[in-house]
Amino acid sequence: MLPDKRGYFFGFGGKFVPETLVSALDELERNYRAVKNDPSFARELAYYLNEYAGRPTPLYYARNLSASLGRLRVYLKREDLLHTGAHKINNTLGQVLLARRMKKTRVIAETGAGQHGVATATVAALFGLRCTVFMGEEDIERQRLNVYRMKLLGTEVVPVTSGSKTLKDAINEAMRDWVTNVNDTFYIFGTVAGPHPYPEIVRDFQSVIGREARRQVFAKTRRLPDYLVACVGGGSNAIGLFHPFYNDRKVKFIGVEAAGRGLNTAKHAASLCKGSVGILHGAKSYVLQDRFGQIAATHSISAGLDYPGVGPEHAMYKKTGRCAYVAVSDREAMEGFVRLSRTEGIIPALESAHAVAYLEQLNRKAKKGSTVIVNLSGRGDKDMSTAVAALKL
Ligand SMILES: *Cc1c(COP(=O)(O)O)cnc(C)c1O
Repeated sequence: MLPDKRGYFFGFGGKFVPETLVSALDELERNYRAVKNDPSFARELAYYLNEYAGRPTPLYYARNLSASLGRLRVYLKREDLLHTGAHKINNTLGQVLLARRMKKTRVIAETGAGQHGVATATVAALFGLRCTVFMGEEDIERQRLNVYRMKLLGTEVVPVTSGSKTLKDAINEAMRDWVTNVNDTFYIFGTVAGPHPYPEIVRDFQSVIGREARRQVFAKTRRLPDYLVACVGGGSNAIGLFHPFYNDRKVKFIGVEAAGRGLNTAKHAASLCKGSVGILHGAKSYVLQDRFGQIAATHSISAGLDYPGVGPEHAMYKKTGRCAYVAVSDREAMEGFVRLSRTEGIIPALESAHAVAYLEQLNRKAKKGSTVIVNLSGRGDKDMSTAVAALKL
């Protein structure tokens, strides 16, 4: 099972960090190995996932959406129904339990849209840990409500003023804090990117999505699905759905990136569709960069997809052809957002709306009657002000 011992997925990943972080990552890896196959850890995590976060989430047959498309049978994996409104809580619960076993008294995190920050602030409150979240000044402006939620939960939100004042700069600041305070501090990383062992840890914690979905779809249809579709920012909700189906070679994976204003403009966030191999945040993967390796500015209508890199396991999936990566524009995503709201009475996160929007294209080329599972990674309440502006509601 990949990654290999040095943290590589088919040549992607690794640990490109300063000397001072190496021992922190080694300590993290040692402790994660100890809990990974420990039944008491699995039991404890399952308890909180079920009793606190609301798992298992339903696999809902979207009859009206399917009828409106015509050729697909669409099932929605309802991660939007989880506590705090997205899949992020699966990972923060796992990592906070690991932090407790490591006797850390403080947790830190980076956040872009604020969803991972809120999920981290939530588990910190639950377990009485001190919590600091780093957030770009630009994102603080765009996502006020999530800043207030974190503050209410007792978390200190530190504005990041360097670089583009967004997620990538917040990750840099969180890493700096971690180096200085590694004795008492655990860094809860938010997606399947970053240096080894984070891509593996986050994948393992998010794989509960795919394990449940595989069981549920089999119970409902007596067979495996033809397609799995998920949006890709850093890639955690997609890997979480895909990974348990990895060896089911007939199940096709489709990862949907943000095409923003269009793939032929500079305003998108499609690292896999348009990026090149480079190093960002301690790992080798596909990155949006200029020819000198400087990280490019990105754009997406959904803050959660607005990231210039992607997890190394996705880079492997791309290179080996296991997953097809496509991109959907801001405008198409808004259409998906409206379509799911009107057909099923479910307002999706704008990130998840990218996956929904892609169904229109898939519907044209898939065999009639194909079964599709779409990961509904989050709910759309956080996006209402964006929607009001875009749709002139
Ligand atoms: C954060 C977020 C994403 C993007 O992150 P991934 O790691 O790619 O899953 C997608 N959907 C929602 C609802 C999010 O909050």
